Formats: sequence, C-alpha cells, structure tokens
Amino acid sequence: MSEKVIFAGAGPGAPDLLTLRCVKALAAADLVIYAGSLVNPEVLRHCRPDCRLVDSARIDLDEVIDLIKAALAKDEKVLRLHTGDPAMYGAISEQMNRLDELKIDYEIIPGVSSVFAAAAALKCEFTMPDLSQSLVLTRTAGRTPMPDQETIANFAATGATLAFFLSAGNLEKLTRELMAAGKPETTPAAVVYRASWPNQKIVRGPLNDIAAKVSAAGIRRQALLLVGPVLERSGGLSLLYDKHFSHGYRSQRRDEFFTGKCALYAMSKAGYAKALEIAGALPQAEVFVPERILNAVAAAGVTENPAQIAVKSFAAGEMAGLLAANWQKFSGHIFVSATGIAVRKIAPLLQHKTLDPAVLVCDENGTQIISLIGGHIGGANRLARKVAGITGGTAVITTATDIHNLVAFDEMAARNRWTVKNPALIKSLNAALLENETIDVLLPEHLFQEYYAGKKNLRLVADVAEITAGFAVVFAPPQNWRPESGIKALILQPPLDAEQCENQCENRCAS
Ligand code: SAH
Repeated sequence: MSEKVIFAGAGPGAPDLLTLRCVKALAAADLVIYAGSLVNPEVLRHCRPDCRLVDSARIDLDEVIDLIKAALAKDEKVLRLHTGDPAMYGAISEQMNRLDELKIDYEIIPGVSSVFAAAAALKCEFTMPDLSQSLVLTRTAGRTPMPDQETIANFAATGATLAFFLSAGNLEKLTRELMAAGKPETTPAAVVYRASWPNQKIVRGPLNDIAAKVSAAGIRRQALLLVGPVLERSGGLSLLYDKHFSHGYRSQRRDEFFTGKCALYAMSKAGYAKALEIAGALPQAEVFVPERILNAVAAAGVTENPAQIAVKSFAAGEMAGLLAANWQKFSGHIFVSATGIAVRKIAPLLQHKTLDPAVLVCDENGTQIISLIGGHIGGANRLARKVAGITGGTAVITTATDIHNLVAFDEMAARNRWTVKNPALIKSLNAALLENETIDVLLPEHLFQEYYAGKKNLRLVADVAEITAGFAVVFAPPQNWRPESGIKALILQPPLDAEQCENQCENRCAS
C-alpha cells in the first residue's frame, strides 16, 4: 500500500504559481482529485498522461475517501489538489479526520493563496507601518454559518486590513455592514476577480461604491474583497526606490521619520524611566527632569540610564524658563506627564500651526501618546506614532483628515519638506478635502498617486492654466503666479537649494 496521501495547494490559478514540490507531486501522482471550479486545468499538465484526474466537484466526501482507499490499495500515489493554499477554506479537515480513522498517513504541500495573488495584482502590501500591521482572512456566512465572535463589526473594529473570501455575491450587504460598523465610506476597497488568471479583473473604489461597480462588472464569484487604507498606496511607484529621491527623503518616509531633535520632560520617577526608554530610541534626544526626581533616583541606587542619554536637571520653579529656552531649539517636545501639566506649560509659547514644534504627551506607562500640538507641519502625529512604536502604546491622533485616512495638504508638504506659502488657506483646503469638494491639484504625478490615488474629487492638473475648480493645491507654481479671483489655491514650495538659499540670505542681509 502506498505511503501517504498528499494534499497540495495548486495556487491561485496561474500554472507557474505552483511550488516545485507540488509540480513534483503532480508528476508522480497516479490519481489526482482536484477542485475543478478553481484549479486551472493548465496546472494538470504537470501530470503524467496516464494519471487519473477526478473533479471533486462531482463527488461527495465518501466517494473521495473510497477513491483514495482503492488507489492506495493498488499502491498508487494519490494527490488531493486544492485551490490556493489548502489551509484556507480547503475543507481538508474533514478529509484528514477520515484518513486518521483509517490510519492513512498524509502530508500537506502549501500553495500560494489567492489572497496573496490578489495583493500582487493590486501591487499592495497588506501591512504598512501605522496603517495596518495585521491581515484578517475571513468570509461572510454562506451555507457555513459564522461563529458568534467573528462578526463583520468585530473585525472592522480591529483596524486591520480585511480580506473576504467567498463573499463576492454578497458585497452590497457586506460593505453596508462595514460602514455601519464605523468604516468610513471613503475607505479604500478593491475586488480582484480570478487573480493571476488570464481573465483577471480588478475593481477599485471606496467602500461606498465598490459593490455597485463589481455588480456592474458582472462579478459574482471567484473574487476577493480587500478593504483598508493600505490599498490606497498601491497605485503609484514606491518612492522608496525612486532614484529621484535622495536618501534624506527615504529616511523621511511616512511615520518612521521624525528626524528632528526631541526634548523629553519627566515629572516623576516612573515618568523619568519611561522618558529614558523613549529617548534611547530617538536620535539626539535629551531628557529634562526636576532635581528632586534625579536625587530620588540616585538615592534609590539604581542606574536607570544605561543608554547614556543626555539628562539635565532643573530646580523647582525653573521649568517655564527652561521650556522657553528649549522651545525653538528642539523640533519635538514630549511631556511624560499628565496632559494638564503640558497644556499649562506650553500655553504661553504657542504661536501658529506653521511655527509651533511638535508637542506630545505620553502617560507614565507609555500607553497613550497624545499628539497635542503641531500635528501636521510640526510632525507631532508622526512623532506620536513613532513613540507609540517605541513604547508599544497607542498614538492618540485627533486631526480630522488623519482619522479619515486622508493625508492633509499641510501634512503632505511637511513630509516632503515643502513650505506652505499661504498657510491661512490650510484650513479651508483640508476642509474641502474632507468634504469631497472638487480640488485641482498640480503635483508631480507619482506624488499624486502616492497620496491621493482613488480620491475622485481631486483632479490632477499638469499646468496652472488648467485650474478651474474653486479649490486648488499648487506645487511650485511659476514665479509671481496668482490664482484667478474666486479660486482658493494653497501654494506649496519646494525647499530652496543651496544656491537659492544663499541668494535669499544675501538679499535679506542687503535689505
Ligand atoms: N484555498 C483558497 C480559497 C478557497 S475558497 C485560497 O487559498 O485561495 C474559494 C474562494 O477563494 C473564492 O470564493 C474566492 O473568494 C477566493 N479565490 C480563490 N481563487 C481566487 C482567485 N484566483 N482570485 C480571486 N479569488 C479567488
């Protein structure tokens, strides 16, 4: 009797998306029982001409087991071929249980699941820093009911990227439930039909109209729905490897960058320990702490500063002066304290959102990291996420664009180190972005794709002459350009290069 049955993943469809192990097993098999509806017949070309092929769609479990038993009795090699990876909705457990009862051994060869073929088709990474670090693979109930806890609302609440199998015929209800569970209507979504097959189709759209688009495309099965902001960033080129971007830019990518120097203020022993932990992971950070805390730590005889962070103490009553002196010297100020303390201390120093540094409040446990001031231009949202990554806490972000997964225009400018020439318009333009007003955007195309792909209310224009909407965002317009009256145009300027910088300094000095 032959040794074991092999369960193998046949991949998503494309015949060259098989593992070498699966190809070998196909070539060796005497009997292949395959899931006919989803396994590409091309895959079966790897079988020998005398191999028996049985489509499992036509037989039930008992018949599958009988076929296996009979083949093994004749010393034949049996391969049970499943679509994608057998561990996802492969119904292999029931077969393995029966084989256990019969004391028949088996082995599993993994395959490329359709969910990864779909990601590849979308040129998407399911896990991106600060957007999502988890992927939920789920389905809606069909003949198989869903366990009580595995509701759409529960999964929606995790914020993870969601992938729905076996649900293409049910998208209207599914997307409605996701929105009812709090997913914004604008959440990026995509459906991939027959990923990796020659007739693969991709339908993209925000959550509120993907179902209609998919229905219009006539797709009802063999498709996956993917939901989450990670999809939004899949349209354009990855700037990470774009030769036009300097290394400096690379280190600024999204939230892993906040390159400025930070000052941390601790008000208690526990706060001091947490400040040292955070400072240890930030370049050139300095920690400021009241003398009495430092003395108490020294008296306790613990060396709490293994990373040799620069620590400066201040006497009671000196905090206000210290903060004023530090205010412009540091790009980020992190209070490891209660929020009230921070708010009172910084109040006299606040100027404008284009000038204020990033201010965060972090509780002593590092659980909540509040982006308090300078969310976009100051970089506080980015710094909060970075600190949350250090402490394992949650970044508390309240700026409206961010909570709707939109990149505010001043945030985009800050990420690229551009300046906003007319900051008085920031508020109106971000509000227009949030309210889906039509906005003409003059931006290098790859950056438009990077930040605003799929935002239908934003129109990419190639020249200032094309601007007609009431709102516009204009990167590097010609000198002395002014928008026509009635158009609110936010003007973004690239950083001065060294020569321009010198000229400007000279002009300033001369005047
Ligand atoms: N084990 C398979 C999933 C089987 S369940 C895997 O790992 O991919 C069948 C469901 O998988 C379909 O309803 C569909 O949602 C998805 N599916 C399978 N192949 C697909 C493909 N090529 N493209 C898109 N979805 C696919």
